[in-house]
Order: sequence, then structure tokens, then C-alpha cells
Amino acid sequence: MQRLLLLLPTSTYRAAAFIGAARRLELDLVVGSERSHPFQERRSGGFLSFDFLRLDLALREVRAAAAVRPFDAIVGVDDASTELATRLSEALALPHNPVAAAAAARDKYKMRRIWDEHDVPIPRFALRSFEDDLVREAARTVFPCVVKPLTLSASRGVMRANDERQFLGAVRRLEAILRSPDLAQEGEASRHLLVESFVPGREVALEGLLSQGRLHVLALFDKPDPLDGPFFEETIYVTPSRLPTAEQSSIAACAAHAAAAMGLADGPVHAELRVGPDGPRVIELAARSIGGLCSRTLQFGTGLSLEELILRQALRLPIPTFERAGGATGVMMLPVPRAGVLREVRGIERALDVPGIEDVAITVHPDQDLVPLPEGSSYPGFLFADGETPRAVESSLREAHRRLEFRLAPPRASVV
Ligand code: ADP
Repeated sequence: MQRLLLLLPTSTYRAAAFIGAARRLELDLVVGSERSHPFQERRSGGFLSFDFLRLDLALREVRAAAAVRPFDAIVGVDDASTELATRLSEALALPHNPVAAAAAARDKYKMRRIWDEHDVPIPRFALRSFEDDLVREAARTVFPCVVKPLTLSASRGVMRANDERQFLGAVRRLEAILRSPDLAQEGEASRHLLVESFVPGREVALEGLLSQGRLHVLALFDKPDPLDGPFFEETIYVTPSRLPTAEQSSIAACAAHAAAAMGLADGPVHAELRVGPDGPRVIELAARSIGGLCSRTLQFGTGLSLEELILRQALRLPIPTFERAGGATGVMMLPVPRAGVLREVRGIERALDVPGIEDVAITVHPDQDLVPLPEGSSYPGFLFADGETPRAVESSLREAHRRLEFRLAPPRASVV
């Protein structure tokens, strides 16, 4: 029986899917979490708790657990826990991506410098500091541009600017976001921003699994809603892609090139690319799988989950297939309709009645503050649909969304 240490941050939606996958693989599972768990009191040995921001403390706990019985792999589930898993794996001499690659995957500037050196097609970019003379920067910026933070995710703080006035407004807004209390630990990254050329065109998300340097494309999702700004809310993801096969192949080649340039050789990748008249441009590549509850849309072979594939790869177990099973499928990350305090969500039953809709998952609770982009960072829920064709899936998701109604009270004074 192989022994797995799974690092589950408190905020993750992925716990059930990864724990379920570990059970199906009959692993000896140890969960590393940021909080002590009630079961830990029973000394079952199945839980470790440590501060995910303190490598030294984490290492002490993990070494102690490994002394009882060694781990075969350490796996994280989001950006931060993946980097920690890589560092712990290095210390314990377990298979891992280079630490520099895992760190670069979390820093948009480092990542772009590496890609630039390796001729990966990307937007033009420049690093700026909030202490720069931003009026002068605005005057020499080519518009439209995109202003973004170095280390956040889920499009938080990403803004398009079409002229100097919008640029200055976006930079000030980003600076305020980076000063918010929940981001206090961002340090160096909180003093800088990236300014990029805006890449027009359709956007796709590529879900892949690297195995010994080879990228297996697990799914290519079209994002049928135009993402032209000023903010970039992810909404609908539908696979298989409706793009021509040749275009899909050049997207896959571009993502493989981007991952290889970073030195990533194993594990999941989630990449965002824009496909314009000059071919694909890489916008982002994370060394983790798709976020939120979106992985529920994917099944492989005879019903393997994405999480099962990831764990098999990490443990060097055979992977029977990388082929997605089933027909067209999709997910909608429900947009925050406006800032406010959630009272109730109506229309769930009616949304479930839409043909093709598989599930409606509302992940917020009454009295919760809903914060739209660019300040916010989470979705109030997810819609899942299957269908004969990608078009049918897209229409089911749109119809179900129309049937949902978020009732909100005005925002509390303390919330942006
Ligand atoms: P995050 O990691 O927070 O998701 P990204 O850099 O991936 O941040 O940007 C989020 C979204 O913003 C992208 O998916 C894309 O829609 C849009 N975007 C970001 N940079 C650009 C760009 N240079 N040109 C066009 N759109 C962009």
C-alpha cells in the first residue's frame, strides 16, 4: 500500500474529490492541513497540521511522520500547496518538479521572463513598481493594456486599460487590493505589478497532465463568453473545443513548450491561452489542476476522475488512459451579480429542470459578503451540464443561469 501525503489548504473545494480518489486507489492517506483536525485527537495518524507558510515547521512534522512510515509522494492541490509539496518532496528525496519551476509557476513575472528567453509566444510585458512615476509610465504605455498583480489568481486584480486615465485608475485600484488584510503576506509581490499588451481573440483553457516531460492534454475548454475586460470573470467552460483541429494542436504545442521552458516535467497543468490572428499566446500556466468544483466535469476511461489521474501520476502508478469519457460537458462559474450580502438564491429547482443540467452547486451561504471582480476572488457557485454537442451544453448553462436569482442586501460598510 503506497503512502500519500495530501496537502489540503483550508480554503480548498477539492478535499472530497482528492480524498475520494485516494480511497479508490486504496492508499495509506495522510492529510496535511493548516488547522488541527478533530480526528487528530484520536491519533489515527491520518492527519498532520502545520502552517503552510512555514516550510521549517512543516518539514519537522512531515519528517516525523515519514520516520514512522515513509511517504511515496506528497501532493498539493492549489498553487501554494503545490509549491510547498515540491519543497517538502525535495527535502525528503521524493520525485518532484524542480523547486525553481514550482516557484516560477506562482510568479507571473518570473514565468514571463523564462518564456521570453525560450521564445514562448506571450503578450509584451513590463514589470512596474507602485513607487514608479506612474504618470510617466502611463504616457509610455501602449494601449489597450492589462494591469495585473504578480501572484494572485482567479483573475483577482486583473484589469484592462484603454487609455492613460484608465491605466492610472487601474493601478491605484490594484494597489488597494494588494493592501487588503487577507493578502498581507504577499511581501515583495505587493509592491509590483505587471503591465501587458492586451491580446485580442478567443480564450481557451487547457487541462493537462505532465508525465516525465510529456504533456498529455486531458481537455481543451472553450470559453465562449468574450473576455474583453475591463475585468475578466471566468464564466462558461465547455469541452470538447469547437476550434479547428489544427488550431487545437498548435495550442497544445504552445502549452507544452511553455511548461518545458519552466522546467515542469510531472504533474497537472492548467493553462489559459488566447488565440488571435497570430496564433496562440500563453496568458498563464499553473502547476496545478483546474480550480473550484470544475473538475467534476471530467471523467476518463471507464470513469476515472481527474484527481485519480493526478494521484496515479504522482505515485508512478499505471494510467490506463488519458482519454476523456462521455460527450460534451461544461461548467459555469457563476458570476457575482453585484456587491452585497447574500440573502437567498432562488430558482435552483427551475435551473435543475433545464435539460442537460447535471447539478447546481451553490457554494456561498446566506449572510455571506459577495464581492465582484476585481476585488473579489471567489464564485458563488457552479452549474454543470452535459449534452450532445458543445453548443447544447452552452445553451443549457445559459438557460439555467437565467433562472437563478441572487437576492442581495446592500454591502456592509466595511466591505469594498
Ligand atoms: P489569474 O492567474 O488571476 O487568472 P491571468 O493572468 O490568467 O490571471 O488573467 C486572468 C484573465 O484575464 C485571463 O484569463 C484573460 O481572460 C485576461 N487576461 C490577462 N492577461 C491578458 C492579456 N495580456 N490580454 C488579454 N487578456 C488577458
